Amino acid sequence: MTEALHHFFNGQRTEGGSGRFGDVFDPATGTVTARVPLASVDDVKQAVDAASNAFPAWAATTPLNRARVMFRFKELLEKHAGDLAKIITSEHGKVLSDARGEVTRGLEVVEFACGIPHLLKGEHSMNVGRDVDSWTEYAPLGVVAGITPFNFPAMVPLWMFPVALACGNTFVLKPSERDPSAALFMADLLKQAGLPDGVFNVVHGDKVAVDALLDEPRVQALSFVGSTPIAEYIYARGSANGKRVQALGGAKNHMVVLPDADLDGAVSALLGAGYGSAGERCMAISVAVCVGDATADALVAALAPKVAALKIGPGCLDPEMGPLVTGAHRDKVRGYVDAGVAEGADLVVDGRGHVVDGHADGFFLGGCLFDRVTPAMTIYREEIFGPVLCVMRVPDLDAALQLVNEHEYGNGTAVFTRDGGAAREFAHRVQAGMVGINVPIPVPMAFHSFGGWKRSTFGPLHVHGPDGVRFYTRLKTVTARWPETHVAEFVMPTMK
Ligand code: NAD
Repeated sequence: MTEALHHFFNGQRTEGGSGRFGDVFDPATGTVTARVPLASVDDVKQAVDAASNAFPAWAATTPLNRARVMFRFKELLEKHAGDLAKIITSEHGKVLSDARGEVTRGLEVVEFACGIPHLLKGEHSMNVGRDVDSWTEYAPLGVVAGITPFNFPAMVPLWMFPVALACGNTFVLKPSERDPSAALFMADLLKQAGLPDGVFNVVHGDKVAVDALLDEPRVQALSFVGSTPIAEYIYARGSANGKRVQALGGAKNHMVVLPDADLDGAVSALLGAGYGSAGERCMAISVAVCVGDATADALVAALAPKVAALKIGPGCLDPEMGPLVTGAHRDKVRGYVDAGVAEGADLVVDGRGHVVDGHADGFFLGGCLFDRVTPAMTIYREEIFGPVLCVMRVPDLDAALQLVNEHEYGNGTAVFTRDGGAAREFAHRVQAGMVGINVPIPVPMAFHSFGGWKRSTFGPLHVHGPDGVRFYTRLKTVTARWPETHVAEFVMPTMK
């Protein structure tokens, strides 16, 4: 039996009218577990109608009362975190404890949004001129939309909508069609938390739905997270249509290991950051840059047996690594491993033949480790998004920095060292949005903002934290004089 999923418009479930559906898989077994409706242009219009109708009353709700809805949503998310994690694992494949971690990182954004009355406070200047005061206000934009990727079906939407809603906007979420159920579960929790109908809507779909959102004049702003080609497309088309857009794309995150680093620490960090969530994280480490051959030899010798011994199985049993999201994606990743071998990289651990007992049809791939990867190779230039780590060798810190800085992506990066001066230099010279010093996955907390540089993020503002509040509001500056004057001024006003 496959479950029939639904859109969520105006607080109600609906199948929509497109007659088109997509398959949702359990990646551990390879079976189809649900079918998701793929929206038509008219379905998207209905979602936007709901959000548009709900906007005036929601924008007029005081920030304090919007925050109270967020507090209740936070309590419900905490209560149901285990259920949400199970849903994530069943459609994405990641191991249960990792899914639980994803929910926690999303919950932190809800906690941040609970402080919205404070975050919306403007600035005030008394007497900018004689008897003239001036202050700033942050107004909501209206209907805003989020388009999200498969790899964090709860956390990435949670980067967006708690802040957008708390700022007074109404929201249309277009989650990944590969794991759509987490979004629906959160929509139900928001309703239980007392969010008025129409303030949060979920529309499922593919390019048809995304294009309809990009071209819908009532959508004021779009937040996108996904691969770089689509991010660039969303940014270009959304901006051309006059929308505010933030579009986060792909990544190739380097971890630089200096000769003085704690080797055991670096190996453990690489194991978790390279193979956790089967490498399907935008902040996964996919390249280990070793300074000096001695560092590389020691690192590969210590890492290889651990990669070969990774505990791999269905995510619900909570091993170290689960399957990839779909068979097509697993085959694409395997194709990259083939390309690495063909281009002359040294495949130290080959996970291509890995079989999980009793799960022959699951989308599993064993961990793979390449050594002696060079900048021209496909496995270095392109994002693989799977359990494949590339080791590269450079002579010194300058060469390591040059390598990182010349890559087209600049999402996250890390340096492992005991030398504070070298770490400081790395942090200041490296061109990436998020930098870890002895921290392999430096994902900013909710009260900071998340985003990359170069072709990892299009648009000036990052997500959540202070940038999130700026993205979902527009600034108004009021200048007021009391008492009124009746003097005509023909010159540019200056304050006296
Ligand atoms: P994706 O780009 O294939 O899909 C993302 C969203 O775009 C989905 O909702 C999808 O339905 C939609 N989409 C796909 N093709 C489209 C098209 N041709 N036109 C319009 N919309 C389209 O990404 P994915 O495979 O779901 O996710 C993995 C990617 O996301 C990786 O590249 C990863 O690095 C990236 N990612 C980046 C971040 C970040 O913060 N920078 C975070 C998570 C994931």
